[in-house]
Amino acid sequence: MANIDWSKLTFSYTKTNTILKTVYKDGAWTPIASLTEDYLHFSAYAGALHYAIECFEGLKAFRGKDGRIRMFRPEENAKRLQRSAKYLGIEAPSTELFIEMCERCIKENEEFLPPYEATGASLYLRPTLIGSNPQLGVQSSKESTFMVLCSPVGAYVGGALDAVDVVIARNYDRAAPNGSGSFKVGGNYACSLYSLNVAHAQGYKAVLYLDPATKTKIDEFNSSNFFAIKDNKYITPKSDSILPSITNMSLETVAAHLGMEVERREVFVEELKTFEEVGECGTAVVITPVHKLVDKPFLESEEETVYTFGDGKCGPKSLRLYNFITQLQKGDIEDPFGWVHFVE
Ligand SMILES: *Cc1c(COP(=O)(O)O)cnc(C)c1O
Repeated sequence: MANIDWSKLTFSYTKTNTILKTVYKDGAWTPIASLTEDYLHFSAYAGALHYAIECFEGLKAFRGKDGRIRMFRPEENAKRLQRSAKYLGIEAPSTELFIEMCERCIKENEEFLPPYEATGASLYLRPTLIGSNPQLGVQSSKESTFMVLCSPVGAYVGGALDAVDVVIARNYDRAAPNGSGSFKVGGNYACSLYSLNVAHAQGYKAVLYLDPATKTKIDEFNSSNFFAIKDNKYITPKSDSILPSITNMSLETVAAHLGMEVERREVFVEELKTFEEVGECGTAVVITPVHKLVDKPFLESEEETVYTFGDGKCGPKSLRLYNFITQLQKGDIEDPFGWVHFVE
């Protein structure tokens, strides 16, 4: 067993036993290699390093009270990676190959899979696809390398479901209209780092981006989707420049299942004052409640409008949704949707 204090895990890198790798070249994927070193050997001219020909996924595996290992909706991650790869013009693994490598990665690193009792902890899987052949010309890579990496993680940055303060940065965008915003490509993250760093320096945990064309509607946070609760409604933005979050999609289904109304539509900044609960959602944390949302014309300025939600704790409706998803992921409640994928 790995010597890990499961209660102290954060969202960070831990070296595990293996990473898995396969390369697409000459029309086929090479046999899956299991590497004990997590350093790669490939050309310094690889397209990934020069033209950001890279996309990735993130999903989690959990151990249930029954000892069984569960992955959460891996087919959705496989499909989304295929969609990102198509955008980059590179070959992607089939859904079968994607899931086979995720399963093998979990088994080879089972000692890093947190025990059932470790609340909020899981084994995070990071499937990654890069253009790997040497190239100078700007074109989609002919050869792609697909890897599945993993690391044990804790659920929270701070305490359990602590609400965070976030900022709207009106003078920065993460994606262009009709651009790459809806694809899970590393380049989107590179483009969000400058504004995220400015926001961090001011004590904000995340940046909320508006629709890049009109700056009147809410898009999403730098690495998670936006949702709001009003009356008995779950409201989340519809936009071509946001990443289709599997967590958000799952929350919409669960909200409807629990008798809430679900609205996926344009969400205007001026509606913020009418929302009861606001949160971020994504695989890493499922839900992070937002306490203060600050709107700044220039992120670097003092001028601001502040919206406050709740009292610094997770709101009751968000908490109910959070509990449902996290219990389903660990097998504590029935899975009415067929989302759990067992690893045998
Ligand atoms: C991955 C990601 C999310 C969350 O998606 P999940 O499938 O829920 O993990 C949200 N926004 C961005 C920009 C992302 O890259």
